[in-house]
Amino acid sequence: MFAKKNEFKPFEERVYLSSPSIYKDSMDYVINAYKTNWMSTVGENINESEKLISDKVGCKEAVALSCGTAAIHLAIKAAGIKQGTKVFCTDLTFSATVNPVLYEGGVPIFIDCEYESWNMDPVALEKAFELYPEVKHCIVAHLYGTPAKISEIREICDRHGATLIEDAAESLGATYKGKQTGAFGDIGCISFNGNKIITGSSGGMLLTDDGEVSKLVRKWSTQSRENAPWYQHEDTGYNYRMSNVIAGVVRGQIFHLDEHISQKKSIYERYKEGLKGLPISMNPMNLEISEPNYWLSCMIIDNEAMCSQQRGDLDVTYCAEANKSCPSEILDTLMAFNAEGRPIWKPMHMQPIFKDSEFITRYGSIGNLPEIGEDGKPCDIGRDIFQRGLCLPSDNKLTPEKQDVIIEIIKSCFE
Ligand SMILES: *Cc1c(COP(=O)(O)O)cnc(C)c1O
Repeated sequence: MFAKKNEFKPFEERVYLSSPSIYKDSMDYVINAYKTNWMSTVGENINESEKLISDKVGCKEAVALSCGTAAIHLAIKAAGIKQGTKVFCTDLTFSATVNPVLYEGGVPIFIDCEYESWNMDPVALEKAFELYPEVKHCIVAHLYGTPAKISEIREICDRHGATLIEDAAESLGATYKGKQTGAFGDIGCISFNGNKIITGSSGGMLLTDDGEVSKLVRKWSTQSRENAPWYQHEDTGYNYRMSNVIAGVVRGQIFHLDEHISQKKSIYERYKEGLKGLPISMNPMNLEISEPNYWLSCMIIDNEAMCSQQRGDLDVTYCAEANKSCPSEILDTLMAFNAEGRPIWKPMHMQPIFKDSEFITRYGSIGNLPEIGEDGKPCDIGRDIFQRGLCLPSDNKLTPEKQDVIIEIIKSCFE
Protein backbone atom coordinates (compact mmCIF):
# COMPACT_ATOMS: atom_id res chain seq x y z
CA MET A 1 0.00 0.00 0.00
CA PHE A 2 3.02 2.31 0.14
CA ALA A 3 3.74 1.98 -3.59
CA LYS A 4 2.33 5.33 -4.55
CA LYS A 5 3.72 7.09 -1.52
CA ASN A 6 7.18 6.05 -2.61
CA GLU A 7 6.87 8.14 -5.75
CA PHE A 8 7.16 11.27 -3.60
CA LYS A 9 10.01 12.66 -1.61
CA PRO A 10 9.38 14.52 1.63
CA PHE A 11 9.01 18.28 1.20
CA GLU A 12 12.34 19.99 1.79
CA GLU A 13 10.67 22.79 3.67
CA ARG A 14 7.94 21.95 6.17
CA VAL A 15 4.43 22.57 4.81
CA TYR A 16 2.59 24.25 7.65
CA LEU A 17 -0.99 24.02 8.80
CA SER A 18 -1.25 27.82 8.82
CA SER A 19 1.72 30.15 9.25
CA PRO A 20 2.03 33.95 9.35
CA SER A 21 2.46 36.01 6.15
CA ILE A 22 3.88 39.41 7.05
CA TYR A 23 4.37 42.20 4.53
CA LYS A 24 6.40 45.38 4.36
CA ASP A 25 3.34 47.52 5.32
CA SER A 26 3.42 45.99 8.78
CA MET A 27 7.13 46.56 9.20
CA ASP A 28 6.73 50.21 8.14
CA TYR A 29 4.17 50.78 10.89
CA VAL A 30 6.41 48.99 13.41
CA ILE A 31 9.41 51.12 12.40
CA ASN A 32 7.26 54.20 12.68
CA ALA A 33 6.32 53.26 16.25
CA TYR A 34 10.05 52.95 16.95
CA LYS A 35 10.99 56.22 15.24
CA THR A 36 8.32 58.19 17.07
CA ASN A 37 9.04 56.29 20.29
CA TRP A 38 5.44 55.14 20.77
CA MET A 39 6.74 51.82 22.05
CA SER A 40 4.12 51.19 24.75
CA THR A 41 0.43 50.42 24.94
CA VAL A 42 -0.55 53.82 23.56
CA GLY A 43 -0.21 55.08 19.99
CA GLU A 44 -1.52 55.61 16.50
CA ASN A 45 -1.19 51.97 15.39
CA ILE A 46 -3.56 50.92 18.18
CA ASN A 47 -6.10 53.64 17.41
CA GLU A 48 -6.01 53.01 13.66
CA SER A 49 -6.23 49.22 14.00
CA GLU A 50 -9.25 49.58 16.26
CA LYS A 51 -10.90 51.87 13.74
CA LEU A 52 -10.12 49.65 10.73
CA ILE A 53 -11.47 46.54 12.49
CA SER A 54 -14.64 48.16 13.83
CA ASP A 55 -15.34 49.49 10.29
CA LYS A 56 -14.68 46.08 8.76
CA VAL A 57 -16.81 44.11 11.21
CA GLY A 58 -19.50 46.76 11.48
CA CYS A 59 -19.50 47.36 15.22
CA LYS A 60 -19.26 50.65 17.08
CA GLU A 61 -16.30 49.81 19.33
CA ALA A 62 -13.17 47.68 19.08
CA VAL A 63 -10.73 47.44 22.00
CA ALA A 64 -7.22 46.21 21.16
CA LEU A 65 -5.92 43.65 23.68
CA SER A 66 -2.90 41.42 24.20
CA CYS A 67 -4.62 38.30 22.82
CA GLY A 68 -7.95 36.76 21.91
CA THR A 69 -8.10 34.92 25.22
CA ALA A 70 -7.84 38.26 27.07
CA ALA A 71 -10.73 39.55 24.93
CA ILE A 72 -12.86 36.55 25.88
CA HIS A 73 -11.90 36.95 29.53
CA LEU A 74 -12.97 40.60 29.67
CA ALA A 75 -16.12 39.78 27.65
CA ILE A 76 -17.02 37.22 30.30
CA LYS A 77 -16.42 39.71 33.10
CA ALA A 78 -18.40 42.41 31.30
CA ALA A 79 -21.29 39.96 30.85
CA GLY A 80 -21.36 39.53 34.64
CA ILE A 81 -20.24 35.88 34.78
CA LYS A 82 -18.88 35.09 38.23
CA GLN A 83 -18.42 32.31 40.79
CA GLY A 84 -21.06 29.66 40.11
CA THR A 85 -22.63 31.30 37.02
CA LYS A 86 -23.66 28.64 34.49
CA VAL A 87 -22.68 29.36 30.88
CA PHE A 88 -23.71 27.51 27.73
CA CYS A 89 -20.51 26.99 25.71
CA THR A 90 -19.56 25.61 22.31
CA ASP A 91 -18.27 22.08 22.88
CA LEU A 92 -16.29 21.50 19.68
CA THR A 93 -13.74 24.30 19.96
CA PHE A 94 -10.27 25.28 21.10
CA SER A 95 -10.00 25.48 24.90
CA ALA A 96 -9.43 29.27 24.84
CA THR A 97 -13.18 29.68 24.20
CA VAL A 98 -13.89 28.20 27.60
CA ASN A 99 -10.89 28.75 29.88
CA PRO A 100 -11.86 32.38 30.66
CA VAL A 101 -15.18 31.08 32.06
CA LEU A 102 -13.08 29.15 34.58
CA TYR A 103 -10.94 32.21 35.39
CA GLU A 104 -14.09 33.85 36.77
CA GLY A 105 -15.33 30.71 38.53
CA GLY A 106 -18.16 30.18 36.05
CA VAL A 107 -19.56 26.73 35.27
CA PRO A 108 -19.48 25.72 31.59
CA ILE A 109 -22.30 23.59 30.23
CA PHE A 110 -21.26 22.23 26.84
CA ILE A 111 -23.60 22.26 23.86
CA ASP A 112 -23.09 19.75 21.04
CA CYS A 113 -22.49 20.75 17.42
CA GLU A 114 -24.39 19.93 14.21
CA TYR A 115 -23.15 18.50 10.89
CA GLU A 116 -24.04 21.51 8.70
CA SER A 117 -21.43 23.88 10.16
CA TRP A 118 -19.68 21.82 12.89
CA ASN A 119 -20.67 24.60 15.29
CA MET A 120 -23.13 24.89 18.17
CA ASP A 121 -26.41 23.17 17.33
CA PRO A 122 -29.36 25.55 17.82
CA VAL A 123 -31.59 22.53 18.51
CA ALA A 124 -29.27 21.40 21.32
CA LEU A 125 -29.14 24.97 22.65
CA GLU A 126 -32.94 25.12 22.77
CA LYS A 127 -32.89 21.79 24.63
CA ALA A 128 -30.35 23.23 27.07
CA PHE A 129 -32.63 26.18 27.87
CA GLU A 130 -35.44 23.66 28.53
CA LEU A 131 -33.22 21.79 30.99
CA TYR A 132 -31.60 24.90 32.53
CA PRO A 133 -34.05 27.81 32.17
CA GLU A 134 -32.05 29.81 34.73
CA VAL A 135 -29.00 30.15 32.43
CA LYS A 136 -28.46 33.68 31.08
CA HIS A 137 -25.15 33.43 29.18
CA CYS A 138 -24.01 31.74 26.00
CA ILE A 139 -20.62 31.70 24.29
CA VAL A 140 -20.38 30.50 20.70
CA ALA A 141 -17.32 29.89 18.51
CA HIS A 142 -17.15 29.88 14.70
CA LEU A 143 -14.81 26.96 14.09
CA TYR A 144 -12.29 26.89 11.23
CA GLY A 145 -13.80 30.06 9.74
CA THR A 146 -17.29 28.68 9.06
CA PRO A 147 -20.00 30.75 10.75
CA ALA A 148 -22.25 28.97 13.24
CA LYS A 149 -26.02 29.26 12.67
CA ILE A 150 -25.62 32.51 14.49
CA SER A 151 -28.92 34.30 13.74
CA GLU A 152 -30.81 31.25 15.01
CA ILE A 153 -28.61 31.17 18.11
CA ARG A 154 -29.06 34.93 18.60
CA GLU A 155 -32.84 34.51 18.36
CA ILE A 156 -32.87 31.67 20.92
CA CYS A 157 -30.70 33.69 23.34
CA ASP A 158 -32.96 36.75 22.93
CA ARG A 159 -36.05 34.67 23.61
CA HIS A 160 -34.49 33.40 26.84
CA GLY A 161 -33.06 36.77 27.87
CA ALA A 162 -29.46 35.49 27.61
CA THR A 163 -26.31 37.45 26.75
CA LEU A 164 -24.44 36.17 23.69
CA ILE A 165 -20.63 36.25 23.41
CA GLU A 166 -19.15 35.38 20.05
CA ASP A 167 -15.70 33.81 19.77
CA ALA A 168 -14.80 34.88 16.22
CA ALA A 169 -11.07 34.19 16.76
CA GLU A 170 -10.95 31.85 13.75
CA SER A 171 -13.55 33.53 11.57
CA LEU A 172 -12.52 37.17 11.04
CA GLY A 173 -13.96 38.30 7.70
CA ALA A 174 -16.56 35.52 7.46
CA THR A 175 -20.19 36.57 7.06
CA TYR A 176 -23.57 35.05 7.88
CA LYS A 177 -26.55 36.36 5.91
CA GLY A 178 -24.28 39.22 4.83
CA LYS A 179 -23.29 40.28 8.34
CA GLN A 180 -19.76 39.81 9.73
CA THR A 181 -19.14 37.25 12.45
CA GLY A 182 -18.23 39.05 15.66
CA ALA A 183 -21.09 41.52 15.12
CA PHE A 184 -23.95 39.22 16.18
CA GLY A 185 -23.09 38.86 19.85
CA ASP A 186 -23.50 41.44 22.60
CA ILE A 187 -19.74 41.11 22.61
CA GLY A 188 -17.48 39.63 19.94
CA CYS A 189 -13.85 38.52 20.30
CA ILE A 190 -11.17 38.14 17.64
CA SER A 191 -7.55 36.97 17.69
CA PHE A 192 -4.36 37.98 15.89
CA ASN A 193 -2.40 34.92 17.02
CA GLY A 194 0.33 33.77 14.62
CA ASN A 195 -1.75 31.06 12.95
CA LYS A 196 -4.95 33.08 12.39
CA ILE A 197 -6.19 34.50 9.07
CA ILE A 198 -4.35 37.76 9.81
CA THR A 199 -1.87 38.16 12.62
CA GLY A 200 0.01 40.63 14.79
CA SER A 201 2.24 37.75 15.99
CA SER A 202 -0.13 37.97 18.94
CA GLY A 203 -3.02 40.22 19.93
CA GLY A 204 -6.80 40.28 19.96
CA MET A 205 -9.77 42.62 20.09
CA LEU A 206 -13.05 42.88 21.91
CA LEU A 207 -15.94 44.12 19.73
CA THR A 208 -19.19 45.68 20.88
CA ASP A 209 -21.82 48.31 20.12
CA ASP A 210 -22.09 49.13 23.81
CA GLY A 211 -20.01 52.20 24.71
CA GLU A 212 -20.27 51.43 28.43
CA VAL A 213 -18.79 47.96 27.91
CA SER A 214 -15.90 49.22 25.77
CA LYS A 215 -15.11 51.93 28.34
CA LEU A 216 -15.07 49.40 31.15
CA VAL A 217 -12.92 46.96 29.15
CA ARG A 218 -10.38 49.66 28.27
CA LYS A 219 -10.12 50.51 31.95
CA TRP A 220 -9.79 46.90 33.13
CA SER A 221 -7.19 46.16 30.45
CA THR A 222 -4.92 48.96 31.71
CA GLN A 223 -4.87 47.97 35.41
CA SER A 224 -8.23 49.56 36.33
CA ARG A 225 -6.82 52.98 37.12
CA GLU A 226 -9.28 55.59 38.27
CA ASN A 227 -9.08 59.18 37.11
CA ALA A 228 -7.01 60.49 40.06
CA PRO A 229 -3.57 62.12 40.56
CA TRP A 230 -2.22 58.83 41.98
CA TYR A 231 -2.81 55.13 41.24
CA GLN A 232 -6.34 54.77 42.53
CA HIS A 233 -8.19 51.45 42.12
CA GLU A 234 -11.80 50.47 42.72
CA ASP A 235 -11.71 47.27 40.68
CA THR A 236 -9.43 44.32 39.81
CA GLY A 237 -7.05 45.37 37.04
CA TYR A 238 -5.39 43.49 34.18
CA ASN A 239 -2.39 44.17 31.98
CA TYR A 240 -4.22 43.18 28.81
CA ARG A 241 -3.76 46.15 26.46
CA MET A 242 -2.19 45.62 23.03
CA SER A 243 1.27 47.08 22.43
CA ASN A 244 1.64 49.75 19.74
CA VAL A 245 4.38 47.62 18.14
CA ILE A 246 2.07 44.61 17.78
CA ALA A 247 -0.66 46.98 16.60
CA GLY A 248 1.71 48.08 13.81
CA VAL A 249 1.87 44.50 12.55
CA VAL A 250 -1.91 44.16 12.86
CA ARG A 251 -2.52 47.48 11.09
CA GLY A 252 -0.48 46.40 8.07
CA GLN A 253 -2.25 42.99 7.95
CA ILE A 254 -5.79 44.30 7.80
CA PHE A 255 -5.34 45.34 4.14
CA HIS A 256 -4.41 41.73 3.36
CA LEU A 257 -7.44 40.09 4.95
CA ASP A 258 -9.42 39.69 1.72
CA GLU A 259 -6.35 38.44 -0.13
CA HIS A 260 -5.73 35.81 2.57
CA ILE A 261 -9.36 34.72 2.42
CA SER A 262 -9.23 34.24 -1.34
CA GLN A 263 -5.95 32.27 -1.07
CA LYS A 264 -7.50 30.02 1.59
CA LYS A 265 -10.63 29.63 -0.53
CA SER A 266 -8.58 28.42 -3.51
CA ILE A 267 -6.84 25.90 -1.26
CA TYR A 268 -10.18 24.63 0.01
CA GLU A 269 -11.56 24.31 -3.52
CA ARG A 270 -8.45 22.55 -4.80
CA TYR A 271 -8.78 19.96 -2.01
CA LYS A 272 -12.47 19.55 -2.70
CA GLU A 273 -11.83 18.92 -6.40
CA GLY A 274 -8.68 16.84 -5.89
CA LEU A 275 -10.16 14.55 -3.25
CA LYS A 276 -13.34 13.85 -5.26
CA GLY A 277 -14.02 10.15 -5.49
CA LEU A 278 -12.54 9.37 -2.09
CA PRO A 279 -14.96 8.28 0.66
CA ILE A 280 -14.64 11.64 2.41
CA SER A 281 -16.27 15.09 2.61
CA MET A 282 -14.71 18.46 3.17
CA ASN A 283 -15.69 20.52 6.22
CA PRO A 284 -19.12 22.01 5.59
CA MET A 285 -19.28 25.67 4.65
CA ASN A 286 -23.05 26.20 4.75
CA LEU A 287 -22.77 28.28 1.60
CA GLU A 288 -26.48 29.03 1.12
CA ILE A 289 -26.37 31.47 4.01
CA SER A 290 -22.75 32.12 4.87
CA GLU A 291 -19.48 33.17 3.32
CA PRO A 292 -16.72 31.57 5.39
CA ASN A 293 -13.13 32.84 5.59
CA TYR A 294 -11.81 29.33 4.75
CA TRP A 295 -9.20 29.57 7.51
CA LEU A 296 -8.60 25.80 7.67
CA SER A 297 -9.51 23.12 5.16
CA CYS A 298 -10.65 19.97 6.92
CA MET A 299 -12.00 16.63 5.82
CA ILE A 300 -14.12 13.92 7.40
CA ILE A 301 -13.93 10.25 6.42
CA ASP A 302 -17.14 8.34 5.66
CA ASN A 303 -18.07 5.90 8.40
CA GLU A 304 -17.74 2.88 6.12
CA ALA A 305 -14.22 3.93 5.07
CA MET A 306 -12.78 4.26 8.59
CA CYS A 307 -10.15 1.72 9.54
CA SER A 308 -9.90 0.90 13.23
CA GLN A 309 -8.50 3.79 15.30
CA GLN A 310 -8.35 3.78 19.11
CA ARG A 311 -7.47 7.00 20.86
CA GLY A 312 -6.42 6.98 24.50
CA ASP A 313 -5.90 10.12 26.56
CA LEU A 314 -2.37 10.68 25.24
CA ASP A 315 -1.80 8.23 22.41
CA VAL A 316 -3.40 6.42 19.52
CA THR A 317 -3.25 3.09 17.77
CA TYR A 318 -4.73 2.26 14.40
CA CYS A 319 -4.76 -0.58 11.95
CA ALA A 320 -4.18 0.30 8.28
CA GLU A 321 -6.59 -1.47 5.94
CA ALA A 322 -7.07 -1.63 2.16
CA ASN A 323 -9.55 0.99 0.83
CA LYS A 324 -9.87 2.49 4.29
CA SER A 325 -8.03 5.00 6.39
CA CYS A 326 -8.37 7.14 9.53
CA PRO A 327 -7.23 10.61 10.63
CA SER A 328 -4.22 9.22 12.50
CA GLU A 329 -2.94 7.31 9.46
CA ILE A 330 -3.32 10.36 7.23
CA LEU A 331 -1.66 12.69 9.75
CA ASP A 332 1.25 10.27 10.25
CA THR A 333 1.68 9.91 6.50
CA LEU A 334 1.59 13.67 5.93
CA MET A 335 4.16 14.12 8.70
CA ALA A 336 6.42 11.53 7.05
CA PHE A 337 6.40 13.86 4.03
CA ASN A 338 7.08 16.91 6.19
CA ALA A 339 3.55 18.31 5.93
CA GLU A 340 1.60 19.43 8.98
CA GLY A 341 -2.04 18.49 9.50
CA ARG A 342 -3.85 18.30 12.83
CA PRO A 343 -6.64 16.32 14.45
CA ILE A 344 -9.99 18.10 14.77
CA TRP A 345 -9.97 20.10 18.03
CA LYS A 346 -10.87 17.56 20.69
CA PRO A 347 -14.32 18.39 22.09
CA MET A 348 -14.39 19.99 25.52
CA HIS A 349 -16.69 17.35 27.03
CA MET A 350 -14.05 14.70 26.21
CA GLN A 351 -11.27 16.61 27.99
CA PRO A 352 -10.19 15.27 31.39
CA ILE A 353 -10.41 18.78 32.88
CA PHE A 354 -14.13 18.88 32.03
CA LYS A 355 -14.98 15.26 32.84
CA ASP A 356 -17.59 16.31 35.42
CA SER A 357 -19.18 19.04 33.27
CA GLU A 358 -22.64 18.77 31.81
CA PHE A 359 -22.89 18.10 28.06
CA ILE A 360 -26.14 18.61 26.18
CA THR A 361 -26.98 17.28 22.72
CA ARG A 362 -30.13 17.71 20.64
CA TYR A 363 -31.39 14.51 22.28
CA GLY A 364 -30.85 15.75 25.82
CA SER A 365 -28.24 15.44 28.54
CA ILE A 366 -25.54 12.96 27.44
CA GLY A 367 -25.59 10.96 30.68
CA ASN A 368 -28.53 8.78 29.65
CA LEU A 369 -28.19 8.59 25.87
CA PRO A 370 -27.35 5.65 23.58
CA GLU A 371 -24.46 5.94 21.12
CA ILE A 372 -26.80 6.03 18.12
CA GLY A 373 -30.05 7.99 18.26
CA GLU A 374 -33.47 6.94 16.96
CA ASP A 375 -32.71 8.70 13.67
CA GLY A 376 -29.71 6.41 13.14
CA LYS A 377 -27.20 9.20 13.70
CA PRO A 378 -24.65 9.44 16.50
CA CYS A 379 -26.03 11.20 19.59
CA ASP A 380 -22.65 12.75 20.33
CA ILE A 381 -21.85 14.60 17.10
CA GLY A 382 -18.69 16.31 18.40
CA ARG A 383 -17.15 12.96 19.31
CA ASP A 384 -18.02 11.61 15.86
CA ILE A 385 -16.40 14.56 14.02
CA PHE A 386 -13.31 14.28 16.23
CA GLN A 387 -13.06 10.56 15.50
CA ARG A 388 -13.40 10.84 11.70
CA GLY A 389 -12.12 14.32 10.88
CA LEU A 390 -8.79 16.11 10.45
CA CYS A 391 -7.37 19.51 9.50
CA LEU A 392 -5.31 19.60 6.30
CA PRO A 393 -2.27 21.75 5.57
CA SER A 394 -3.93 25.11 4.80
CA ASP A 395 -1.11 27.59 4.72
CA ASN A 396 -1.87 30.50 2.39
CA LYS A 397 1.62 30.07 0.92
CA LEU A 398 0.92 26.46 -0.10
CA THR A 399 1.54 26.24 -3.87
CA PRO A 400 -0.83 24.32 -6.16
CA GLU A 401 2.07 21.97 -7.06
CA LYS A 402 2.72 21.08 -3.43
CA GLN A 403 -0.97 20.81 -2.71
CA ASP A 404 -1.35 18.32 -5.57
CA VAL A 405 1.33 16.17 -3.95
CA ILE A 406 -0.52 16.38 -0.62
CA ILE A 407 -3.71 15.30 -2.37
CA GLU A 408 -1.90 12.26 -3.85
CA ILE A 409 -0.48 11.39 -0.43
CA ILE A 410 -3.99 11.46 1.06
CA LYS A 411 -5.32 9.30 -1.80
CA SER A 412 -2.56 6.77 -1.23
CA CYS A 413 -3.76 6.29 2.35
CA PHE A 414 -7.00 4.82 0.97
CA GLU A 415 -5.27 2.30 -1.31
C1 LIG B 1 -6.94 31.17 18.72
C2 LIG B 1 -8.23 31.03 19.38
C3 LIG B 1 -8.53 31.72 20.56
C4 LIG B 1 -7.51 32.46 21.37
O1 LIG B 1 -6.88 33.51 20.78
P1 LIG B 1 -5.40 33.92 21.31
O2 LIG B 1 -5.16 35.19 20.59
O3 LIG B 1 -4.48 32.83 20.90
O4 LIG B 1 -5.48 34.09 22.78
C5 LIG B 1 -9.80 31.61 21.09
N1 LIG B 1 -10.73 30.84 20.52
C6 LIG B 1 -10.48 30.14 19.39
C7 LIG B 1 -11.58 29.34 18.81
C8 LIG B 1 -9.23 30.19 18.80
O5 LIG B 1 -8.98 29.46 17.71
